[in-house]
Amino acid sequence: MRNTGEAIALLSRENRLCVVNYHRILEAPDPMLESEPDVATFRWQMRLLADCFNVLPLHDALAALDAGQLPPRAICITFDDGYRSVHDLALPILQEFGLPATVFVTSGYIGERNMWNDRIIEAVQSLPPGQLDLSDVGLGAYSLRSLDDRKTTLDELTEASKYLPPKARVGLIERLEALVGEGLAHGLMLRQDMVVNLDRKGVEIGAHTISHPILTSLDDGDARFEIRGGKEELEAILGKPVRLFAYPNGKIGKDFDMRHVDMVREAGFSAAFTTAVGAITRDQNRFQLPRSRPWDSSPFLFGFRLLRWLTQSPP
Ligand SMILES: [Zn+2]
Repeated sequence: MRNTGEAIALLSRENRLCVVNYHRILEAPDPMLESEPDVATFRWQMRLLADCFNVLPLHDALAALDAGQLPPRAICITFDDGYRSVHDLALPILQEFGLPATVFVTSGYIGERNMWNDRIIEAVQSLPPGQLDLSDVGLGAYSLRSLDDRKTTLDELTEASKYLPPKARVGLIERLEALVGEGLAHGLMLRQDMVVNLDRKGVEIGAHTISHPILTSLDDGDARFEIRGGKEELEAILGKPVRLFAYPNGKIGKDFDMRHVDMVREAGFSAAFTTAVGAITRDQNRFQLPRSRPWDSSPFLFGFRLLRWLTQSPP
């Protein structure tokens, strides 16, 4: 793979940068959370990156790209939202392989209860089998008979909630949690001391707003408050500038637009990241940089997809 990468680097005019993005790391595989890697999967992925690619700190990689000094097969590792598992499970593996990383932390959830999407996951995981009737909160009926039904229900409820007004979303979550009753796990997110420890161990902390809203659903004043506030709250914890930003949900035109790109620049960030697929080139807008993670379950295909992104033109 390293040789293929070197051959590709020789053929391409300039080296590109691929930024991979993770969210949670799981202790064990979970059929309800198929897109989240467990520790064993994360470990082979990190070993592969350490063996075959040049993994750089994100801020340094962007500076090297600007200076035309980016090495071939350049990769950066990022995590979104600020899950505790980044500290407890990912950090030891990153340290083992000597890999730098960046965590985009949603400041309002530090040490707090779970983010709304995880509250839906936990509730749907815990509901008894059968039919789920949510017509009283403006949604339909859902099946929880088989594992596949439960996964479909989870996907549909998560998708529907993403674009619900905050009050309606809270209404839905509280309804689901009431149906489950007691016993839901809490504490999935980083505590403040863990954020500080990640920073001390060389993991860069980036911002991801205060409460993870879909920015296009807010008026300009609220969007600006979320973008600036997330930065200021993290800077108060760390006592140093927070330089990088990731848009919540991250789809250009849907989750954020040019107003928010301007707000991020005006807030003093030096770069911002979307969830568009592809690699970063030197001439790209620094406030709309793509980020994606290969979904392949075999190391060869995972590495090969990264190499392909490193050579593909951005869409
Ligand atoms: Zn996020």
